[in-house]
Amino acid sequence: MNSDRILVLLDMIPQEELVKFFRSNKTQISCMDEPHTFLNQLRDNGLVLEDLYQKVIKMRNKERRQSGVYQILEWLEKQGGQCVKNFWRSVFQDHILKKYSALRSLQTSFLDGSFRVIENLSDAEKLTGSAEKETEQKKGGTKRKKCNDETEEEDTGPSSMPGPSQKRPAMEPTFLESTGSQLQESRSTQCSKDPLDQIKDDACFICNEEGNLVHCTQCPRAFHYRCHLPILQEETLGDSWLCTFCVLKTDQQLQIQTRREDILNSPVSGKIRHCEYLLLCMYKGDELHVFTGNPTITDTEWSSVISEPMWLDKVKTKLQDNKYRTVGEFVRDINLIFKNCQTLNSDNEFGKMGAKLNKIFEREFQTIFKIQ
Ligand SMILES: [Zn+2]
Ligand SMILES: [Zn+2]
Repeated sequence: MNSDRILVLLDMIPQEELVKFFRSNKTQISCMDEPHTFLNQLRDNGLVLEDLYQKVIKMRNKERRQSGVYQILEWLEKQGGQCVKNFWRSVFQDHILKKYSALRSLQTSFLDGSFRVIENLSDAEKLTGSAEKETEQKKGGTKRKKCNDETEEEDTGPSSMPGPSQKRPAMEPTFLESTGSQLQESRSTQCSKDPLDQIKDDACFICNEEGNLVHCTQCPRAFHYRCHLPILQEETLGDSWLCTFCVLKTDQQLQIQTRREDILNSPVSGKIRHCEYLLLCMYKGDELHVFTGNPTITDTEWSSVISEPMWLDKVKTKLQDNKYRTVGEFVRDINLIFKNCQTLNSDNEFGKMGAKLNKIFEREFQTIFKIQ
């Protein structure tokens, strides 16, 4: 029987190989239309953080949900070999396989051993690749060491160069360099997509939901009226409306190099578009809406530990109501979100999300102001 064979194989195959098999297929796995049963199965087997599960299960937009499932799988991979082994054991079960064709084909290649051939082939391709790749292979020494290197590389910042086996773009672009649909593509490289869809985005660039959208006349991005900053009004749009990302792109080309101090001391009134841009990047980067709303409403622990809570919607309101005098005051509030997050979460998943968002903020801040 297949289920017995699977258990035997899972015990026989080194965990390192199970992780590799998992890593190279997690994009494909995440491209599922109806992940509910899959996620419930992970939850029943203790393979997903409850908070993350609750967030993803409530997502209605397909793209966002797939991105959420991918994050869950990414978290799982980081938990190590035993966890990945448990993953395969819990998804290679009839009631799951019946629903998910991608997992069915993975089970087939797992049972007949062909997944190893595919893995080895891709190793061979890497070896015959560029000289740079060969050097890296040598530097890594044994196969085992190389795997460790890859894991470390995955943990580095968004602007660092990913390892050769990763399916990400060569370098994470700033939001200025990327267009809407390119970002969506990088999130779901293996999802089949109608090429026509890529001409103009059919979901809001910020929240990824569909609805009544305004399209930028220069890039593929689309926005809800209230998701864009400044907030849009139909009467004032005109025929050649440009989104804040396109406006800033032009502005950045004209920007001369500046010192951080000078920017922080300059009045917000002269840099309002920059602040709006940075805030949009924060909303965009906060995919699971962890930092968007007032955290003290749902979590009473906040008020006892954190003296000054801060969240993105509050910064948005303050910015709109002209409550910030200098760019420095605006930056202080954004940094307060990261600081509070670190105080409460240190090393867990939410802590990592905060650190990731912090990196995005720094990257975008330095880019748009050309900080020396
Ligand atoms: Zn939106
Ligand atoms: Zn645009």
